[in-house]
Amino acid sequence: MSEPIQLANMIDGQPRDPRSGHYLDVFEPATGRVFARCPASTAADVEAAVAAASRAAAAWAATSVDERARLLNRLADLLEAEIDALAALESRDNGKPVTLARQVDIPRAVTNLRFFASAITQWASESHVGNTRTINITLRQPLGVVGCISPWNLPLYLFTWKIAPALATGNTVVAKPSEITPCTAARLGELAVTAGFPAGVLNIVHGHGAEVGQALVEHATVKAISFTGSTRTGATIATTAAPMFKKLSLEMGGKNPAIVFADFEFSDANLATIVRSGFANQGEICLCGSRLLVQRSIYEPFRERYLEGVRRLCVGDPQDATSDLGALVSQEHFNKVIGAIARARDEGGRILCGGKAASVGGRCAQGWFVEPTVVEGLPSRCATNQQEIFGPVVSLIPFEDEDEAISIANDSEYGLAASLWTTDLGRAHRVSARLDFGIVWVNCWMARDLRTPFGGVKSSGIGREGGVDALRFFTEPKNVCIEHG
Ligand code: NAD
Repeated sequence: MSEPIQLANMIDGQPRDPRSGHYLDVFEPATGRVFARCPASTAADVEAAVAAASRAAAAWAATSVDERARLLNRLADLLEAEIDALAALESRDNGKPVTLARQVDIPRAVTNLRFFASAITQWASESHVGNTRTINITLRQPLGVVGCISPWNLPLYLFTWKIAPALATGNTVVAKPSEITPCTAARLGELAVTAGFPAGVLNIVHGHGAEVGQALVEHATVKAISFTGSTRTGATIATTAAPMFKKLSLEMGGKNPAIVFADFEFSDANLATIVRSGFANQGEICLCGSRLLVQRSIYEPFRERYLEGVRRLCVGDPQDATSDLGALVSQEHFNKVIGAIARARDEGGRILCGGKAASVGGRCAQGWFVEPTVVEGLPSRCATNQQEIFGPVVSLIPFEDEDEAISIANDSEYGLAASLWTTDLGRAHRVSARLDFGIVWVNCWMARDLRTPFGGVKSSGIGREGGVDALRFFTEPKNVCIEHG
């Protein structure tokens, strides 16, 4: 295919150019060069997509769960058949190492589709038998047309995480991927047509959030919005959607703590996981631990072993199988992360390793690479330890005891995920119960079971995704009470 690759919207089962005729540049973060163009759609394209989704809604809602599951599984098979090409495309579009895209992003997108294909065939609604002559049956009906809006950090992974349960429950979808990483979403739209989804069931509209996302949220026909992205955008969406009484699921930012107690099992494997929890995907995962709290009695030996692990990480060409970290997603995000490191210095932080742009030569000479950076010496109440950086930057913070660890961990406007490291089972239970986070991992990180509720508290989110929570979100319960004489 000649470059730049020109992407299209997928509306009513057809690839469509944007009505405006305008396109946005899509950059390869590893080189800083444009390699694709995505539609700069407007409200007119959203209108066409919502109209197509409305026309398809009744027939799709009436389609049997077996047929919906079959189509989702078929789409999963098609993705899997081109897993290497999709991983290469995801890596190129986002800057992440191709090995990560091949091992995590694309397999997980396949699993999302298969998971909800199975889940919908196993789901049952409730009935309540009264002690009079009544029985209550709770129907769980699709909402109609729903909107799914996703970010750039795990493009196909998070896009399918929303689309799969929305379709499985019988809704038709208008989905908007990030304009920064639109490529695999565009391919998903083509494959959905090949899989045999009826026209209008899955529509994909590309473009700026303030245009396309906003038009989708404002559209009166769209009954629910499932959003993952920044807290600032989530607040804008909530402001628009709340007076319209739309259902909202908002998965937003984080400032996650990893808490290491002196009694933790100080093994190479655990250290490797703790290092990965800060730097996987260049730190651009909402679940990454960017505040590393370490009990003071082991602070120094831990710091030395941890820094050895961080220094071993290789920043390099994402196409290279030996690269642990690739490029940051955009010039703007690179500037933000470099600015956050400068701010950490200004706040009095000591940079223990990294601290600047990483130079990767050859074809990546102009890419947006940042060294894995560790800072120490900053109090909990400073911008570095309070604001989301979303890059390869970890702040080390010592603590004395359990109470202080919990108090520092909870000292955040965010509450997405915490991890804690201890061999004391009582402590694991006590601390987990007192952490103000939607997800707590004990002696592990990012171990995901798709049946569990996923989401955050405070400024990290409203609602839960995953398993039955997602099926509930995308359906409306209707109670039918029957008196049977
Ligand atoms: P973002 O908020 O800038 O964009 C997310 C999506 O929203 C994009 O598709 C964007 O085009 C769209 N958008 C922007 N303005 C909009 C508007 N006014 N109305 C509707 N849609 C709009 O976020 P990002 O920079 O793409 O992603 C990074 C952020 O996502 C980080 O804050 C990260 O923590 C968060 N994130 C959270 C989770 C989670 O599960 N909690 C997962 C991944 C990423």
